[in-house]
This record gives sequence, C-alpha cells and structure tokens, in this order.
Amino acid sequence: MAKKLSDAETLIFLDRFHGHIGPYVVLGYRAGLVANRELGEDPFCKRARTFTGLEPPVSCFTDGVQFGSCCTLGKGNITVSGEGEPRVRFELKDGSKSVEISLTERTKARIAAAHGWETADRLGRQMLSEPEGSLFVVRFPPFTPTR
Ligand SMILES: [Zn+2]
Repeated sequence: MAKKLSDAETLIFLDRFHGHIGPYVVLGYRAGLVANRELGEDPFCKRARTFTGLEPPVSCFTDGVQFGSCCTLGKGNITVSGEGEPRVRFELKDGSKSVEISLTERTKARIAAAHGWETADRLGRQMLSEPEGSLFVVRFPPFTPTR
C-alpha cells in the first residue's frame, strides 16, 4: 500500500470491503500493518496464516489481515486454519523472518464485553488508534516450515 491512509479513510475502505466495522476487522488490519513494518511492504515477499477459522465474528480478523497486509486469497499468499483464534503469523517467503500477532487478554475481554453491532462498531473505531502494545502480543518465532 503506497499511500498512507488517514484513520477516516481507513474506516471507509474497511467498511466498504468488509461490510461493517468491528474490533476484529480493525485489529486484523492493524496486525497487517505490523507485518508491513516488520517484514516490509511488498505483499509478494510475504505470506500469512491466520488461525481464525471461517466463523464470524472471529473470522472478520482475516478480512482485516488481507486489507492491511495485502496478503490475499487471490494472490494465494494467505491460508486460514480452523483454531477459531484471532491470531496471525506472517513470514517472509524465504523463511528468514516471521512475526506472530495475537491479542492481549485485556483486548479479548473488551471484545467479549462488546455486545451488539453498535457497541462493536464503536470499539472497532476506538481500537484503530489505540497503542499497539496494549492491543497485541507480538512475537518473533523461529522459522518453522509450514509447506
Ligand atoms: Zn465482521
């Protein structure tokens, strides 16, 4: 993604792409930005594996990951496994570096307490600009070949 989007633009694009705003799609997006920073912006040099499964709302995280990192289904550089966890691992295609991003317990608790579409929308918008360290646990695991 060449041009940095403002928060307002990001929310418009995310809403258009995903259909609504909520904490999972926003956090997936931000996890994608962490990957861009740590592994580089080039979407063809990295791949992602999310652990969300395909059941919303947790799987909304995977849409955010695609939008943020540009690792997409169509490019074949994202896979989704069925653990049902809002967690993602990115790696460079040559295996030289990887980063795994999951949610802090506090983040999980806040999402669990957000009942209803409006509350989830508000929480997602808040989480777009909160400090990364309070939302995520970011780890740099040693490379383990997955394919
Ligand atoms: Zn969603």
